[in-house]
Amino acid sequence: MKTLLASLKGSGMVCAYFYRFATKEKPKYLALLTMNVILLSVLPFLGILIPKSMIEELMGEQKIPRLCLLVGLLVGGTFLLKTLISILQEIRETWEDALSRRIDLEMSKKAMRIKFEHTESESALSARQKAETGMSWYSGGIKGMSECIVKLGTSFCVIFGVIWIVVAISPVLLLLSVTAVLVNAICTSKINLAAQEVFEKTPAINKFYSYIYTKINGREYAKELRLYHASPLVEKKAVENAKSLNQMDNECARKQFSWGILGSTMSAVGYGISYGWLGILALKGTITVAEFVTCITAMETLTNGCLIPFITNAQQLMMKCNFMSAFIAYEALEEEKDQGTEKLGAEGFDGITLEHVSFRYPGTEQWVLRDVSFEIKKGESISLVGLNGSGKSTLVKLICRLYDVTEGAIIIGGKNIKEYSYEEYVKLLSVVFQDFKLFGYSIEENVRMGGIQGEEGRKLEDVYELSGVSEWISSLEKKGQTIIGKEFDMEGVEPSGGQAQKLAIARAIYRNAPVVILDEPTAALDPVAEYEIYERFHDLIKNKTAIYISHRLSSCKFCDKIVVIGDHTVQEVGNHEELMARNGIYADLFQTQAKLYVAG
Ligand code: ADP
Repeated sequence: MKTLLASLKGSGMVCAYFYRFATKEKPKYLALLTMNVILLSVLPFLGILIPKSMIEELMGEQKIPRLCLLVGLLVGGTFLLKTLISILQEIRETWEDALSRRIDLEMSKKAMRIKFEHTESESALSARQKAETGMSWYSGGIKGMSECIVKLGTSFCVIFGVIWIVVAISPVLLLLSVTAVLVNAICTSKINLAAQEVFEKTPAINKFYSYIYTKINGREYAKELRLYHASPLVEKKAVENAKSLNQMDNECARKQFSWGILGSTMSAVGYGISYGWLGILALKGTITVAEFVTCITAMETLTNGCLIPFITNAQQLMMKCNFMSAFIAYEALEEEKDQGTEKLGAEGFDGITLEHVSFRYPGTEQWVLRDVSFEIKKGESISLVGLNGSGKSTLVKLICRLYDVTEGAIIIGGKNIKEYSYEEYVKLLSVVFQDFKLFGYSIEENVRMGGIQGEEGRKLEDVYELSGVSEWISSLEKKGQTIIGKEFDMEGVEPSGGQAQKLAIARAIYRNAPVVILDEPTAALDPVAEYEIYERFHDLIKNKTAIYISHRLSSCKFCDKIVVIGDHTVQEVGNHEELMARNGIYADLFQTQAKLYVAG
């Protein structure tokens, strides 16, 4: 009983959530559903009450005008009601399609807003998968939910009218019908339980399914698949995945079939007894022919048209709500914007101070950074140097607030950066990540998307020139309007690694933010292009505060300060000359690299 109450309460909350959502988009949606329920509730009474009057008339006075009126009422009323119902359902369908697209959009918006660390966490990925599955054919989304609610509402309204008719003729019949319906309800609940069990197990299997059929089949893996002859392995995994899914489906179908058969057998037995009982009453003359026919129709309406749909739809609704609650859980995941409220304009930026920063990735035990402290003054350019895996990119992610520091603090404008509103905070940053991504939109849209609203960005042409893509863009037929990639436009371009990297740099400098962060910005460039970038380095960063990571230590000479990271913490700080004179880690790394270049 307790679980049933909890389940009812949970379902109520889920319905309230989705109807709030629906009425925000379509304010008259609930009125439409109510109208639908009213019309559907009136319809069965035409078919029960008018034929009763017709039989009484036929067996009594047989007045033709009265009979014609009754036929007219039955035919005309049914036609009118059905037409209105179809119109309402047509409107509902289009509104519900729009609502379902809106739900997809919400899910995609959420995926773009959740805290960055959730994008890598297993539980958040499963939550997304579960939300998608929960809103798919499992529940039918808002459309599926409304379908249940309309049927539930209709059965509820009709039940009272029909019970009144049946009880007036034979109370025993009501008892028989209710017993048959209860048995049926138990069977249906077992059928739903089997579906629920499958739903709980599917997200993990479905995740593999979409990995194989969407991701691996896509462009991302095309090269590895061919060159490493990886398709037999992928095929093997696909067959194993299909086997698990088939096994689960079969198990579910077996259970549902057994309970379904039991349910229909019990219904048939219930019917047999009820018809037999009514027949005896009619033969004994306890009820008239008109009452016999009315009672048969009313009983049919009560069991198949009301009680069974009522219970089935109540159970279905609870199950759908359970599926759909996965969407609500996903929507509740913490977002970047949930953190910090303080405002910080470009003018409030006074440099960055790291105070005893320690960090380990969520869910791991290993410290990546330990007690890191240094300062980046406003307008200063610093270079982060260290071996692979020493934590340079991690430091950048912390400054970008993609992760929160585990211990210590990063201070800007006298406050912990966590205190600033995330949306405001990121306006401080122009970043080119090592694994930057360009979007399948036009070149111009890609570069402009970094522009900070309301602020005068740099001129697009200057940015193209500075980042070295001007000539290439001019050579394209559609210039800056050329789409990147051929996925959506056959005339799109596939930029080379170097062109793509220069575009990523263009996007960062167009943004014109006070802090420029370049993580391995020249990794994909040839030596000439790399030299050009270094030559224009100061024009590129335009005296802004800059954080620079590069494996080529010769590029550090351009920076005011070099911070050497090793053994999870800061090992040396100084400019090129100071660190060379110190003859420590930096000097060692620099000389080793210089020798390699000379040898090369
Ligand atoms: P660098 O930029 O100096 O090459 P990184 O900051 O990329 O180094 O990595 C530092 C350490 O953090 C490495 O040991 C790396 O394996 C680990 N690491 C990086 N990203 C993650 C992550 N998302 N989860 C767990 N560990 C990570």
